[in-house]
Amino acid sequence: MFHEYDVVVVGGGIAGLYTALTAAEQCRVAVVSKVHVTRSHSVAACPVILEQKPKFIGPAAILRAQRYIFDSRATDKIERMQVMEKPYGIWGCKSYYMCTMVCPKNIKVTKAILMTKKKIIQELHS
Ligand code: SF4
Repeated sequence: MFHEYDVVVVGGGIAGLYTALTAAEQCRVAVVSKVHVTRSHSVAACPVILEQKPKFIGPAAILRAQRYIFDSRATDKIERMQVMEKPYGIWGCKSYYMCTMVCPKNIKVTKAILMTKKKIIQELHS
């Protein structure tokens, strides 16, 4: 069986998933990883996913949403913030900073999540 993709991302951690989610909006993407993406260092490092809520969307998806929520050109910020508030969404993050600590690209993941939480409170709840 053959599969055709436009982009192949090597690595299923935060940086790889972020890149894959970005590219997937415009083309077909495959992620190649040594382990299932839920077992990548940055995702597996999250205590919320590991111990409490396996359905938690996790840091990569939140980081991706954050990119649009803070984009002045985006016209769907409210909808994205509302999606983030659904069960297993952004409020599941308990700011343990583990995703930030293991990110090989030194992305300030937890800071981005906290900024997004603040924005949601300001935009949807004040
Ligand atoms: S900061 Fe949030 S998403 Fe990152 S590891 Fe901690 S609980 Fe998980």
